Amino acid sequence: MTQFKNFIGGKWVDGNDSAPNVNPSDTSDVIGHFARASADQTQKAIASARSAFRTWSLSAPQQRFDLLDQVGSTILARKNELGKLLAREEGKTLAEAVGEVGRAGQIFKFFAGEALRVGGEIVPSVRPGLTVEVTREPLGVIGLITPWNFPIAIPAWKIAPALAYGNCVVVKPAELVPGSVWELVKIIAEAGAPAGVINLVMGKGSVVGETLVKSADVDAISFTGSVGTGQAIAAQCVATGKKFQLEMGGKNPMVVLDDADLDVAVEACINGAFYSTGQRCTASSRLIVTSGIHDRFVEAMQARMRSLKIGNALDESTQIGPVVDAKQLGQDERYIELACAEGGSVFGGGRVPSATEGFFLAPALVTNTTPAMTINREEVFGPVASVIRVTDYNEALAVANDSPFGLSAGICTASLAHASHFKRHVQAGMVMVNTATAGVDYHVPFGGRKGSSYGPREQGTHAREFYTTVKTTYIAPGNV
Ligand code: ADP
Repeated sequence: MTQFKNFIGGKWVDGNDSAPNVNPSDTSDVIGHFARASADQTQKAIASARSAFRTWSLSAPQQRFDLLDQVGSTILARKNELGKLLAREEGKTLAEAVGEVGRAGQIFKFFAGEALRVGGEIVPSVRPGLTVEVTREPLGVIGLITPWNFPIAIPAWKIAPALAYGNCVVVKPAELVPGSVWELVKIIAEAGAPAGVINLVMGKGSVVGETLVKSADVDAISFTGSVGTGQAIAAQCVATGKKFQLEMGGKNPMVVLDDADLDVAVEACINGAFYSTGQRCTASSRLIVTSGIHDRFVEAMQARMRSLKIGNALDESTQIGPVVDAKQLGQDERYIELACAEGGSVFGGGRVPSATEGFFLAPALVTNTTPAMTINREEVFGPVASVIRVTDYNEALAVANDSPFGLSAGICTASLAHASHFKRHVQAGMVMVNTATAGVDYHVPFGGRKGSSYGPREQGTHAREFYTTVKTTYIAPGNV
């Protein structure tokens, strides 16, 4: 069985031990054994990043452009092969996986250009004779901690800006999906990244992740994952004086008003709630529907759900792949049971038989729910959505905002007045009008409010707010 090593200081090195990477569509298929780093090895990776930072932080923008551009080209040229690996290790469908890899390639291309666009400002001082310069500098060593649901896109949208702006990186992928990041780091190394600029330490959150977060030699942490882990990381970053950025999920509302185009609304909700097996932090998990369209909407959703093909992610005809692992499957099923126990009625949500041993769950739609029910408060992170019936737009908006989260929010309506009001008043970082809450562009800011996110936005030009620090210089000409 192939062994995959960590990448530290420009060398591939064994871990303390290794863990199998198992295909959730077919548990007899083991992709390989991936090294798990010790705390000591993580420290070595941090030290090598620190040492590489001395020259990388002063590298010419052209060098950084060339590296990232080359990485982007390689990813795009290999997107079918990398997409297959991604579908195999995570379980999203082949089409979704190839799409995600393509996006990773585009992200590297985008940030290649950004490396050339780091400008500054020259401002007249309020005091006579002085000039003020505002410039940006890289932060230093950045620890990147990533989740399993976007095995290449999330690492790409953290690694690319970190390197573009002159930082060095230690990346720790999720235990369930180290394969895609391993390939990405190999591509970056082969494209000519100097030793230490990019380091890969795979393994446990409690060992590798904690070492990164606690290290005095790491300047910043960018994390995407669960609320509990994010909050614990925040406390440790404050204690060690690090800059940090957290992306922690959502309970995203999709409002469907009486005047919505029913077909548009159903497609937006099927996509937003169930594609990628509902395992997206932007998934539409609360469908808030006004009374006049409620029954027609539920009926049309159920008809559409019956037609969805659930199965092996590598089968071209599959529309919904498996849940990522047995633990997540158990969590999805517990939330469905709890929703029923609290008074909801469930459609779908059963296990789906398959030729291979995997974690196949039919999408579930829970109706007759109220905003206070657990299913409408906590993130499930599976193919499970609930319907909340409301009387009018005002109640819909109030329910949409009645959540500790605020990542993405959608509305399906033919009314410009309601769409415009919703856009302004919904408490979310991203708003979708007549389109799914999930599925975003790579060149504009990504992130949310309230319990969903902390710190500057990711992606697009806004990424520089996190990956650079600002310096203000005062110059008195007489002394220069
Ligand atoms: P999930 O439950 O979806 O896997 P987690 O928040 O547990 O979400 O994991 C997201 C990432 O955070 C993973 O890479 C995981 O290994 C890492 N992680 C988990 N626990 C810690 C921790 N205590 N410190 C740092 N990173 C951690």
